[in-house]
Amino acid sequence: MNEERAAVIRAARSLFDRGLTHGSTGNVSLRTDDGILVTPTGSSLGTVTEDDLSLIDDRGAHLAGPRPSKEAFLHAAVLRARPSARAVVHTHSTHAAAVSCLRDLDHADALPPLTAYFAMRVGRLPLLPYHAPGDDALEGLAEETARTHTALLLRNHGPVVAGASLSAAMDALEELEETAKLFLLLRGLPTRPLTPAEAEALRPAD
Ligand SMILES: [Zn+2]
Repeated sequence: MNEERAAVIRAARSLFDRGLTHGSTGNVSLRTDDGILVTPTGSSLGTVTEDDLSLIDDRGAHLAGPRPSKEAFLHAAVLRARPSARAVVHTHSTHAAAVSCLRDLDHADALPPLTAYFAMRVGRLPLLPYHAPGDDALEGLAEETARTHTALLLRNHGPVVAGASLSAAMDALEELEETAKLFLLLRGLPTRPLTPAEAEALRPAD
């Protein structure tokens, strides 16, 4: 459990130190034998410690430790939907959050497959409709959508990304953020994304 706690703290620090989260936004979770470890409510990922981590069950109920993030229910929902996933990372990272505010996005797939690594690590990126922070009406929708997608983009908010390990979830989150940045840089320029066949050949398994 201690190594698992340490891994969550390393991931949280890494997100914060590289500007992928700010203030007390963003949360990281990891499935363990005892339940789901998740970063606590109202705490910066830059200063959170191993003892600050909350433990919740797979329905999102608080088991031990400080009060979990108000967004912990999203982590539990995605982990229920994806038995093969062990970790979930959620941020309000700037470029992905910017894309989540654009009009006229394809709700089934908010970002084009600009690069092979995005196609490989993220695949399709569904856009979930706006909900106020902590509105658990999002729970069922996130669970349903996560069954067939490894990453979700919350409208006017940010990405939620699952992975078979914490490092896989981090890699996919970062790939998504960088692709969002490319997408914004390329807006208005004639662009050639991967073809559907090229993207499909790389897409992660549901
Ligand atoms: Zn959030």
